[in-house]
Amino acid sequence: MMHYRRLGRTGLKVSEISLGAWITFGSQLDEQASITLLRAAYDQGINFFDNADMYADGMAEQVMGKAITGLPRQALVISSKLFFPTFPGPNGKGLSRKHIFDSIHATLRRLNTDYVDLYFCHRYDPDTPLEEVVRAMSDLVSQGKVMYWGTSRWSASQVTAAIAVARQINAVTPAMEQCRYNMLDRRSVEVDLAFAVKEFSLGLTTFSPLAYGLLSGKYNNGIPAGSRASFPEMAWVKDRLSDTEIARVRALGEVSAEIGLTPAQLAIAWILRRKEVSSVITGASRIEQLDENLQASEAVKLLTDEVLERIEKVLDNHPDED
Ligand code: NDP
Repeated sequence: MMHYRRLGRTGLKVSEISLGAWITFGSQLDEQASITLLRAAYDQGINFFDNADMYADGMAEQVMGKAITGLPRQALVISSKLFFPTFPGPNGKGLSRKHIFDSIHATLRRLNTDYVDLYFCHRYDPDTPLEEVVRAMSDLVSQGKVMYWGTSRWSASQVTAAIAVARQINAVTPAMEQCRYNMLDRRSVEVDLAFAVKEFSLGLTTFSPLAYGLLSGKYNNGIPAGSRASFPEMAWVKDRLSDTEIARVRALGEVSAEIGLTPAQLAIAWILRRKEVSSVITGASRIEQLDENLQASEAVKLLTDEVLERIEKVLDNHPDED
């Protein structure tokens, strides 16, 4: 059964497990497979679907737009992001007021919807004054094109500065941050952002729960054909497959097997144990993966103190890599 959590201090409820479109929608998966995957996720209670203007050069939004056609818009939480280049030339990227407005208009057209629920500044833009960014994002909220705005991979001091500027100019403050969080990469949530999240009750929508698939154990004995690490353009995933990482994943596999979970379920449940995470954004290239990952919700109760300690021991064996 799906559980829903408040997005930080907002009144919005997001499914604690959500589905993202990166690499899969409009790219690794054809249109029909993407639509089938999103519908299967929706049928099992996922209400939050994550996207960005640059995923598959806009195709991910276009395909998601088709997938949500016919579903009740009120039941869906759709997100997008902007920052990375989507158009040639100096103004086709970044967080200038011009690019923010150009980008949201293109996103709404592709998604075929009147508004996005969550809109993220995909990275910090040192080339645009923070006040310009805050004002433009706040205006989008006032205009009803965006329900809540937030940041992705901004540092705690950048988020804190944005909140201070918004308060100064009486603008809408950012409500959420989107950062990476998984067993192999814990810093953002557990260290860097911890104070800001507590102080401002920011919502956290965390990504790459399986470290691009590594934590599912699928790479323990090589690279399966068709997996993410097998794509030439994803060579950096392959580069992460060090003996140290694989040893760690194998040891985690022993823990998961003992409590009757798959490694992927353990990895996602381990994230869900933290109440400040509003939603874990998962990715899936097959419905079977989605089905397996969704079981993580019920698995959280299996994470006793003893199990958590065992996991901690495995992860602590390699503190240098965090
Ligand atoms: P994961 O780390 O969970 O990796 C997902 C991939 O792992 C799948 O596409 C699949 O790849 C494989 N996989 C998933 N489940 C299983 C399973 N049970 N068994 C075996 N393999 C499995 O998440 P992502 O890195 O895809 O990130 C999720 C979402 O987060 C993205 O879609 C995006 O929306 C968001 N994101 C945001 C970023 C940001 O900067 N804000 C950055 C990155 C992601 P395959 O089958 O091809 O091997």
